[in-house]
Amino acid sequence: MRIGFIGLGVMGRPMAQHLIVAGHQLYLYRVKPRSAHLVESGATACTSASEVARSAEVIILMLPDTPDVEHVLFGEDGVLEGVEPGKLIIDMSSISPLATKDFAARLDARGCEYLDAPVSGGEVGAKAASLTIMVGGKPEVFGRAKPLFEKMGKNITLIGGVGDGQVAKVANQIVVALNIQAVSEALRFAARAGADPAVVRQALMGGFAASRVLEVHGERMISESFEPGFRIRLHHKDLSLALDSAQLLELMLPNTAMVHQLMNGALSKGLGDKDHSALIEAL
Ligand code: NAD
Repeated sequence: MRIGFIGLGVMGRPMAQHLIVAGHQLYLYRVKPRSAHLVESGATACTSASEVARSAEVIILMLPDTPDVEHVLFGEDGVLEGVEPGKLIIDMSSISPLATKDFAARLDARGCEYLDAPVSGGEVGAKAASLTIMVGGKPEVFGRAKPLFEKMGKNITLIGGVGDGQVAKVANQIVVALNIQAVSEALRFAARAGADPAVVRQALMGGFAASRVLEVHGERMISESFEPGFRIRLHHKDLSLALDSAQLLELMLPNTAMVHQLMNGALSKGLGDKDHSALIEAL
């Protein structure tokens, strides 16, 4: 299949690589030195998002935030300028559920199909092709995209209509953020009270407090290795999406709001481009 891939960052690079290895012809934007190996593996570098859209039948986006997706889809030289009816746009970025519905409607007016398919599992999951993929869209369109998702992920769920994949991802980010905060407080407490936090983490891994966050990020916190991974800046964006939605829905999310404030603090300390496990530094 001819597949466009726009957004070749921490996540997009390995995801695109899996599709190349599966035998698909990829059209990429923007290729930088860190993604040049994909072209060496047989992919084509394009000079704009519209060129990608003209060349490919399915166009996948893996961009940082809502304004980036809007710009790539509808800005100058964007996807809309290159698409024809029948093409499928899959947004795998984590962005606003509300904006997603608007983007899908604008592309539907052009005769194009749209899926939101944000992921969980991080860089490790992207490299291992074991991402959790949360999809919103029509069942028949999901069926068309599923073989591609299976090259990038393992736990693939059609949550509901367009936007519902992003809703699930926001829910995921609330759980992860609050879990990071809980692990940070527990490890800080253990250290200050005189116990070895590495041993405490090991002990906790066998009981009810066990989690992927305690396992992976607990280890990062103890060794103070905060290279991203998932940047605090991006997780801050996800909690902003949660709180914006909560405001519209008149819903109370007190602990999400509190961790969002701690992330504001981390950003003000210049920690925005560190891994989100560095939230412990805000304590
Ligand atoms: P990243 O910042 O590493 O990569 C984003 C890429 O998009 C960069 O290469 C950037 O150059 C490119 N880009 C930005 N604007 C562009 C434009 N106009 N045209 C073409 N390319 C453009 O981010 P990431 O960590 O890969 O995350 C991507 C998305 O996946 C985000 O929405 C993030 O929240 C989500 N996500 C990330 C992780 C993770 O662990 N890193 C996990 C799950 C979900």
